[in-house]
Amino acid sequence: MSVLNEVLAANDAYAADFGAKSELALPPARGFAILTCMDARLDPAKYAGLSEGDAHVIRNAGGRASNDAIRSLVISYKLLGTKEWFVIHHTNCGMEFFNDEVMRGLLAHSLETAALGADGFYDVGSGPGSAEANYINWLTISNQSQSVTEDVVRIKNHPLVPAGIPIYGYIYDVTTGRLVEVPSATAAGAAKK
Ligand SMILES: [Zn+2]
Repeated sequence: MSVLNEVLAANDAYAADFGAKSELALPPARGFAILTCMDARLDPAKYAGLSEGDAHVIRNAGGRASNDAIRSLVISYKLLGTKEWFVIHHTNCGMEFFNDEVMRGLLAHSLETAALGADGFYDVGSGPGSAEANYINWLTISNQSQSVTEDVVRIKNHPLVPAGIPIYGYIYDVTTGRLVEVPSATAAGAAKK
């Protein structure tokens, strides 16, 4: 079965048992938001105990505090009333295995999927590529604790983010499923009056 058919079959089964979820309110019932990585091994609903309607989950490559992530967080608070936010990066993140220069070099040569070897990513596809990658900040990660702290600090200091929202910084361990606090991030994200 193709991926498309698998997804549609799974959705049929899900919708058949939808029940009371049709009555959920739009604002998150538990009043919080999580910014985390898109990594396929991470399931925020499971690692943080969420059901439909509980919380906002904002995901991108790395779980970084990009302008678009901040756009979502501001909407989450301003219009939908979340009161606490989490920034959760993780061990063994793909964003640690390249930097802007590498990504730009790869995409300049080929748009096709690269391979990952002992020395990092390398191109196996054919060209042409594009220099457009030069205009994107890929927000890669060289140190997880540092990236979590940087992102919490950026969100906390953003002019559209009120000082009263506590922001917690954590790293999810892909080998244990545990959330490990980054104390410097949580300290930086503490609510101020
Ligand atoms: Zn990741």
